[in-house]
Amino acid sequence: MRVKILGTAAGGGFPQWNCVCANCRAVREGSFSGKARTQAQVAISADGGAWFLLGASPDLRAQIEATPEVHPTATSSVSVARHSPIAGAVLANADVDHVLGLLMLRELQPLSVHSTASVRRILQQDNSMFAMLDRAEGQLRWNDFMPGKTFPLLDPQGQDSGLRCRSISLGVHYPAYVRSARRSDLVPGEASSGLVFESESGRRIAYFPAVPQIDQALLQELDSTDLILFDGTFWSDDELIRAQGGGITASSMGHVPVSSDAGSLRRLAPVKRPRKIFIHVNNTNPMLNEAGAERRQVLEAGWEVAEDGCQFDL
Ligand SMILES: [Zn+2]
Repeated sequence: MRVKILGTAAGGGFPQWNCVCANCRAVREGSFSGKARTQAQVAISADGGAWFLLGASPDLRAQIEATPEVHPTATSSVSVARHSPIAGAVLANADVDHVLGLLMLRELQPLSVHSTASVRRILQQDNSMFAMLDRAEGQLRWNDFMPGKTFPLLDPQGQDSGLRCRSISLGVHYPAYVRSARRSDLVPGEASSGLVFESESGRRIAYFPAVPQIDQALLQELDSTDLILFDGTFWSDDELIRAQGGGITASSMGHVPVSSDAGSLRRLAPVKRPRKIFIHVNNTNPMLNEAGAERRQVLEAGWEVAEDGCQFDL
């Protein structure tokens, strides 16, 4: 299984267009110890041929161009000038920064999209723009998955890619744009998922970009994997409040912070088996600074911070 990291920032990217926090200011001035980042985007493949996107970020067009593995190739047997190694996407939630990129893939390219039924209904039935993905017969194949169940990743023709996925229900909060009438009609446990992918050889990767709380069952799940890409959104619970002079806590946004007794560094310390990597890092997070004490603390705890463009072979 091949894993490409196309983007590593939380929603808004780094720097964020309207942000003047210390990190965003320094990276614009060129004085920051670290790089700019695009919004979180991962692609996985069983064989390096067909690729599945984990979510679809608003930066997807540029991320595809920066990644030769997902460029279209000309095939002599096909006369039309359209092709993509991207077979489809697996959606963990319906957040704008996780689904907007689907609209960048609208040029009548056949795609297979896996999500919970609730996430599908929000996009397909309530947001008419997504009809652009479903204009022609065979363009979009929606595949609903159930929390806790294992399912195969299928290509747009319904062929099994050889990759398996199991979703773990994590959050019950739907995005703010979902109307209250619709909200009462959705299954709470289908709002936000952690995704565990398994190759035919039994290698496992966990993609958990939004984790509201950590319990014993989650720790056991993570310790059964080879690589985890974990929620690194905020360093501390009150980070946004301090950066903006107001706002809400990390936990009320559905993100367990990295630091503190209840944070991921401390709580995931007993998880020894997988390589542990933070992704979905908000522009305000001090661990972005490669020269800072927070980054040192992360590395000393055995964690890494994902970089745009990095790759893992499992
Ligand atoms: Zn900022």
